[in-house]
Amino acid sequence: MALTFDQARGCVLQHARRGTETEPVLLADAAGRVLAEPVAADRDYPPFDRSARDGFAVRAADLPGELRVIGEVRAGEVFQGLLNSGDAIEIMTGAPLPSCADAVVMVEHTTCSGDRVRIDNALQPGDNFAPQGSEARAGDTVLAPGRRLGFAEIALLAMTGRECIQVYRKPRVAILPTGDEIVEAGELPQAFQIRNSNAWSLAAQVARAGGIPEIQPIARDNFESTRAAIERGLDSDLLLLSGGVSAGKYDIVEKVLADLGAEFFFDRVKIQPGQPLVFGSARGKQFFGLPGNPASTMVTFEIFARAAVELLSGATEAPLPMLRARLVEDFRHKPGLTRFLPARLSADGSTVTPESWRGSGDVPALTRANAFLVADPDRETWSAGDDIRVLLK
Ligand code: AMP
Ligand code: MG
Repeated sequence: MALTFDQARGCVLQHARRGTETEPVLLADAAGRVLAEPVAADRDYPPFDRSARDGFAVRAADLPGELRVIGEVRAGEVFQGLLNSGDAIEIMTGAPLPSCADAVVMVEHTTCSGDRVRIDNALQPGDNFAPQGSEARAGDTVLAPGRRLGFAEIALLAMTGRECIQVYRKPRVAILPTGDEIVEAGELPQAFQIRNSNAWSLAAQVARAGGIPEIQPIARDNFESTRAAIERGLDSDLLLLSGGVSAGKYDIVEKVLADLGAEFFFDRVKIQPGQPLVFGSARGKQFFGLPGNPASTMVTFEIFARAAVELLSGATEAPLPMLRARLVEDFRHKPGLTRFLPARLSADGSTVTPESWRGSGDVPALTRANAFLVADPDRETWSAGDDIRVLLK
């Protein structure tokens, strides 16, 4: 039975496994990896009451008024003295607040003459500085395992002095192209042959999802060749097949998998492109049989297999965020399937234009697109100006 897009997505998330093996990496190599240990704050953050402005440290109760400037404190210094009522200390952004001061007034709001400073507006205690420990307390867990390390997480690791951390091992993902008509990208095809582009688009997608792509030699559309190739592919952590899952006489991937004792979680999804999509498990490994049309392969990886690679990479979450944008022109499709169609999202993400294309084999159209328009299965027409869902490419 064919699953809806949401059912199939739920099925992938339910069955996909999370990676468990870990390895150490240096901070310089950590971007994009998935953290495998909790990271704790080594001290309070900020470690002292930190001025957020260039200006004057004061007692808020003294304002408005004219104060005596008794010194200055720069970032990287500590003011050794007390601030009494009626005093101000010139302070720079990032410098520690002197004791007894309870606010910072911005230099823009002051008038100086000699050692006097005039401040016409009132301040509340706590204004313009970040109190010690207000961002994190020493010992607090600031990053949990399973988090993919983006630039902010890298900053947090550097901030807490973690030059070496444990991350999850990247999963090895076998990519197995199938088809009698397919030749390698470096070969000169005969008129009726097609160069293998799917293995390369998949390799790029696998790497982006945090896996190590392992491109296998092309399997031919016969039982022996496909069976040997699938057995080899099942040595990796995950197997992605391209082609051979449609209804044609020589589409034998499912038969071979069944012969290897595979369990199928689904083998048809109500989507386009990519309807005859297969997801299952054999010999303790999971596999996806992705339909061979280039757009089908790319789309089904993005919306399903990518989640499996991300979770195998140790990530606790595999989100598939979609945004909504205003259609620039009328749009219609035949209801019943969720369609993912090449589209151009405007630079600010507010409007979307369907890209003209000639169907699932049209790779040039996919390069012109920067997004996929997502047409819901229970709606037929959209007018220019209507909102529609969009998946980023
Ligand atoms: P299939 O899913 O095997 O029926 O293939 C569907 C279409 O995708 C056919 O036109 C194939 O030639 C094409 N195709 C299959 N595999 C690849 C590949 N690795 N690279 C490019 N096109 C492919
Ligand atoms: Mg084929």
